[in-house]
Amino acid sequence: MERLEHIGIAVKNLDESNKLFAKLLGRSHYKIEEVESEGVRTSFFEIGGVKIELLEATKADSPIAKFIEKKGEGLHHLAFAVTDIKESMKEKTAQDFSLLATEPKDGADNKQIVFFHPKTTNAVLVELCQDKK
Ligand code: ZN
Repeated sequence: MERLEHIGIAVKNLDESNKLFAKLLGRSHYKIEEVESEGVRTSFFEIGGVKIELLEATKADSPIAKFIEKKGEGLHHLAFAVTDIKESMKEKTAQDFSLLATEPKDGADNKQIVFFHPKTTNAVLVELCQDKK
């Protein structure tokens, strides 16, 4: 893995959280993007080379809605940048980490993404992401 790319935070109301994080970080979000397939609306802040991704559910049965139902708002995942996501998936699987999918999928911010099963990553939801070419 190369670097921490972003930190995902589950929120109930993206507009309210955008205001809160703008005040906290002293800067505005630089984009809002909906990923329909994931039932999520996201916004991005950039600070010191790391991004903060706020995630709001757009459907009652989306993963973010289920997360908030179970655990409430808050820290959702850590995303690490890799140069070759398929290669990293092979490598980490061979090291006994479990992934939640066998193929990467399209995520927000022009990325290919895949998540690890938190059971194999100390209960932390970890994402691998690669910029789409
Ligand atoms: Zn993410």
